[in-house]
Amino acid sequence: MPGAESTTARCSPPVAARGLTRRYGPIRAVDGVDLQLERGEFLTVFGPNGAGKTTLLKTLACLVKPNAGTLTIFGFDPRRSFDQVKRRLGLIAHTGLLYGGLSARDNLLFFARLYDVGDPGRRADEMLEEVGLTERADDLVRTFSRGMQQRLSIGRALIHDPDLVLLDEPYTGLDQHASRMLRGLLEQIRGKGRTLVMVTHHLEEGLEVSTRLAIMTRGRIAWEAGAGSLSRAALEKFYLEVVGGGA
Ligand code: ATP
Repeated sequence: MPGAESTTARCSPPVAARGLTRRYGPIRAVDGVDLQLERGEFLTVFGPNGAGKTTLLKTLACLVKPNAGTLTIFGFDPRRSFDQVKRRLGLIAHTGLLYGGLSARDNLLFFARLYDVGDPGRRADEMLEEVGLTERADDLVRTFSRGMQQRLSIGRALIHDPDLVLLDEPYTGLDQHASRMLRGLLEQIRGKGRTLVMVTHHLEEGLEVSTRLAIMTRGRIAWEAGAGSLSRAALEKFYLEVVGGGA
């Protein structure tokens, strides 16, 4: 029932997780996380290596299954309604999720068609322009530098204009120009009332774009605050206090 489906999506929070847990053998990578995000929120998660940030993001992206707890995305349980969840989600991950043997344009065309984007050719060209790759549109992705692949994976993740955007260290490998481009894109996305969750090690990057900040240690959200008027120095102080000796 499409009507019921869109009402569910409209009235439900983009992310609602309770007691979310993901174990790898004895390791509790994500350990009982409660998280609710409203539309227009931009949460940045900081934390030391091995704290569980990527695993949390992968769980929200439905790439790994939680061992315990509940998760809904726009009111949908990913285990039952993966299609509804998938088309509302965009993930910028460590691995670019790109096809090296296809050109940049063909990669974007492929994902545009996969997501049933209207006029996929026009949309692919629009995204190539946004991420500054128009001149390399016909080159094979396996010949791209790391930063160029990262630019394209940003285009891929945003091609279907997702309502919830998940970003894992999205600035990795980007030059100054591309970092500015990404900041602009993130502001645009937030301006449209979309919801974002970003994982980064760079306090500055998180502080300048987010509405909400969290620090994760040992699989748990150990500290959370509104970004508001928090200064870089204050955030660093909290970070050092919370993280202390390590993950
Ligand atoms: P980093 O900042 O180094 O990227 P992170 O906070 O993103 O770290 P995760 O990658 O989520 O941390 O890892 C959390 C814990 O889960 C680590 O102890 C890691 O070794 C473990 N882990 C993650 N993925 C796997 C896996 N596929 N198999 C086994 N253990 C895993």
